[in-house]
Amino acid sequence: MKSEELFAYAKNYLPGGVNSPVRAFKPYPFFASKAEGSRLFSVDGNSYIDYCLAYGPLVLGHAYPPVVDAVKKQLLKGSAYGVPTENEIKLAKEVIKRIPCAEMVRFVNSGTEATMSAIRLARAVTGKKKIVKFEGAYHGAHDYVLVKSGSGAIGLPDSPGVPEETTENTILIPFNNKEAVSDLFNRESEDLAAIILEPVMGNVGCIPPKKGYLEFLRKITSENNVILIFDEVITGFRIDAGGAQEYFGVTPDLVTLGKVLGGGFPMGALAGKKEFMERIAPSGDVYQAGTFNGNPISITAGLETLKHLDRKFYQESEKKGLKMRRGLQDILHDLSLEYQVVGLSSMFQLYFTPSEVWDYSQAKTADTDKFAQYFHSLLSADVFVMPSQFECCFISKAHSLDDIEVTLEAMSDAVLTAEKKI
Ligand SMILES: *Cc1c(COP(=O)(O)O)cnc(C)c1O
Repeated sequence: MKSEELFAYAKNYLPGGVNSPVRAFKPYPFFASKAEGSRLFSVDGNSYIDYCLAYGPLVLGHAYPPVVDAVKKQLLKGSAYGVPTENEIKLAKEVIKRIPCAEMVRFVNSGTEATMSAIRLARAVTGKKKIVKFEGAYHGAHDYVLVKSGSGAIGLPDSPGVPEETTENTILIPFNNKEAVSDLFNRESEDLAAIILEPVMGNVGCIPPKKGYLEFLRKITSENNVILIFDEVITGFRIDAGGAQEYFGVTPDLVTLGKVLGGGFPMGALAGKKEFMERIAPSGDVYQAGTFNGNPISITAGLETLKHLDRKFYQESEKKGLKMRRGLQDILHDLSLEYQVVGLSSMFQLYFTPSEVWDYSQAKTADTDKFAQYFHSLLSADVFVMPSQFECCFISKAHSLDDIEVTLEAMSDAVLTAEKKI
């Protein structure tokens, strides 16, 4: 069956035909048949240069041979034990070596679980209830944070089924705005347990922190006994070996990790200061558990993946990212368009708005109709970028400079299409 037919068929059995909302782009998503390196193949016989990369995990590209080999070996030895393994210690040590704030780690199964557990821990440690999140930030699909999220949740500021009692303890403020934070702290720092943020927002496009903003958050939280949580589910191991906290030189109290950490398999982690982490059961009283926590397959894939993320990898990511962003800028310049090219390291996005984008409300000025034209023009040229204006595209180790050049040519036509010039 072809994708169009499969999608119609899938809708009978899976809500909306998919298992995660953002995948259901219009008119129908292509169904995957296989993937390798920078390419994702569809059941329709197309081969796309992939900048979605499963929404972030695949920094090395699809089916990276050393990861495939390591996982094959582990698979023959069993896929779940229910008792600990030495590799869990090894991966924890690798995380601790790389991520500045990490002194101890709890492995979980997804980024969602990681942020849920981090928030619970922050509330337990401080004995306070309220948490602060930024408009447009996405921290997974659980109740605490499902308030004006990014990703598929945009436009659903509050999902039905989330009790008001849950979200009344979640305070929303705009990103990159010091005053909003100061005002809030003046009003209610006594009730605030934590600030959770994506240090580079990656679920409403791509929004970096303004200079000095992370330092400001670090200072004000330290002074007020509020836990600073960096949600580095996207940025962790992607923009630098030590994630955004190394890239920007600001160390939070807790970090949540996921995506890249599992090397293409389901995984998340919560890490931070030992005194906080030791509050987690069974060494402490804060409950956290999971049948598949520290699953040997994901742990093996993560261990093998991190081995390939050396200095050279980050230098090349930066180089490829720059080539993509500069190329896009040149395209806009040649057409006298004032749209925003954003991103850093291997992250990039083009916002169809002349407004600078430093927060959610500015991101929302982007023209999503134009973006949709751009997306579909790229798709017909065998380039798969994120299907939403409010996501961030990724480049992997497997992407060649050639791939990027081919992509830029397609982007030039795609922008013209969006402008209805061809
Ligand atoms: C993807 C993402 C999550 C959720 O991770 P899942 O593994 O999808 O549950 C949380 N935070 C951020 C910043 C993310 O990008």
